[in-house]
Amino acid sequence: MKRVALMGIALESNSFAPRAAQEDFRNRCYLDGDEILAEAAKPNPGMAAELVSFIRTMNATGPWEPVPVLHYESQPKGPVDQDFFDSCLNEIERRLRDAGPVDGVFIANHGGMTATGGTDPDGDMYARVRKCVGPDAAVVGTLDLHGNISQTMVDAADVLVSYLTNPHVDMAERGEEAAVIMRRMFAGLRPKSAFIRLPLTPASINLLTASGPYAELVDYGQRRKREFGGRILNVSIWGGFVYSDTPKNGLAIVVTACNDLDDARSLSAEIATRAWNDRGRFRKSLTPLQEGLDLALANGEDKSKPAVIFSDSGDNPGGGGSGRTITLLESLAQVSAKGVYYGSFFDPELAAEAHALGEGAEFHAVFNRGSEDDLAPEYSVPARVKALTGGKLVGRLGLFAGRTLELGPCCLLEIGGEGGILVVVISNRQQTADPGFFEMFGLNVAAARTVAVKSRGHFRAGFIPWFPPERVFEVDTPGLTSPVLENFNWRGLPRPVYPLDEDTDWTPPDW
Ligand SMILES: [Zn+2]
Repeated sequence: MKRVALMGIALESNSFAPRAAQEDFRNRCYLDGDEILAEAAKPNPGMAAELVSFIRTMNATGPWEPVPVLHYESQPKGPVDQDFFDSCLNEIERRLRDAGPVDGVFIANHGGMTATGGTDPDGDMYARVRKCVGPDAAVVGTLDLHGNISQTMVDAADVLVSYLTNPHVDMAERGEEAAVIMRRMFAGLRPKSAFIRLPLTPASINLLTASGPYAELVDYGQRRKREFGGRILNVSIWGGFVYSDTPKNGLAIVVTACNDLDDARSLSAEIATRAWNDRGRFRKSLTPLQEGLDLALANGEDKSKPAVIFSDSGDNPGGGGSGRTITLLESLAQVSAKGVYYGSFFDPELAAEAHALGEGAEFHAVFNRGSEDDLAPEYSVPARVKALTGGKLVGRLGLFAGRTLELGPCCLLEIGGEGGILVVVISNRQQTADPGFFEMFGLNVAAARTVAVKSRGHFRAGFIPWFPPERVFEVDTPGLTSPVLENFNWRGLPRPVYPLDEDTDWTPPDW
């Protein structure tokens, strides 16, 4: 019976955000050994869907023996604490050694992690695992398309599988694909990969897969894969996560051929050349704040206008944002916008105060009490406690569909009187990518004139029933995830790099 180790440490690191420590993983998903299998067997597991799906597909395709190692996930934050990460790697090594020989390893990482002591912890993990299991074990990994790919990862793995969708809705399919690849490798398949990274670091808002240059590139890769008629196993194209700010940043292409390296090389070069020639389209302008405010005001006054949704693009907790910037909320309150649903502000102290006061209480809400963060200063405003919840919900649409979320004590505050702004305050930092963030208070998204969310792009899939793409506005707000790359003091990116440096050159590899 084939034995397959299961593991993953998933973090997307924004190098401008505070470091991620063990407690950040404990706050989201922290599973050791058999806990992985127990969680995966639940109807709504609180863990990465690709790992759940990998296990289910392996179960459905024949006998196997899972060797569950560990699976930790953090909400996107800063670089991982090196001591904690090293202890994880040591633990992985110890558990693999104790478990004895394995035939395969499935790794469900994000791929965009950095560490306080290094820029490629994902690569370090892959390399360590390969060293433990030897050259003959099948090592297959799934990665978020915002992963930053290193040669170390490509060398250590047999196959790396990237998501194909952004907003991400294909995690389960990719887990299934990884399991099928694992089965094929057990049957004798020996895949070969080619890797190319371009000096191209688009902001995440330019990496959508419904339309635009990245969507077309991903489609092109999948079409060309089919045209190779079974000779290509996988085509993955990572947009990367520019805010990780490392030398391994850049749009990355890995083509894995079933057995002929030349197939992998020629197709990866073809895709890379197409991407490079199209680089000018990996720029996008935002909606200026004032324009957004005008739109919200007009919408509140005239109910015949179609409702709209705003991305508070500079502060996406799903990209390492604090979830505490106040620019958009304060501006909407200042102009007395009506019919606004705003979600979600991360402020456990404020949520606790609202819970202590009780529903219906009127008080002076102080957001970011005592804050010394310039991007998230203290903000005080009269408010009413409209509703309270314990913050447990099961995601309904898109990224969080079917997944249990624990947001901690939450409150809904009303600012600007009846029909003004309803603000969701949460106690566990998370991006508002699902209507459940409002629905848990009994709100109906269809009743809002303007919805504003702290989410960069995943809200698109969560709110698509109400807001088709033409009613989505990415508002230019400050914060750690601002899509205006010129706002940052980059230290690690390879330079020159497009679009920061207009005259960046690239030539295809001479294999
Ligand atoms: Zn992502």
